[in-house]
Amino acid sequence: MANEEAGVSRRVYVRVDPTKCKAYSVCGNLAPSVFEIDEWGFGYVENGDVTPENRRSIERAARACPVKAIDIIHD
Ligand code: SF4
Repeated sequence: MANEEAGVSRRVYVRVDPTKCKAYSVCGNLAPSVFEIDEWGFGYVENGDVTPENRRSIERAARACPVKAIDIIHD
């Protein structure tokens, strides 16, 4: 999601920190269009762009992740 304030365009994206993820699969259940779950239950992201359409579900997943492994990055 681009932030056009003051002429600055910033990318907002989400990622799963693989060093924290404990394979609870909560993210994939709350935001299945964003988070993939691998065969062992670990979450990962293919396209992490945060858009107006998926922002709410991403934020909900980030809050719900039991080990806070989901980072929303403002580049
Ligand atoms: S909810 Fe958190 S711990 Fe569970 S799969 Fe997603 S990132 Fe990993």
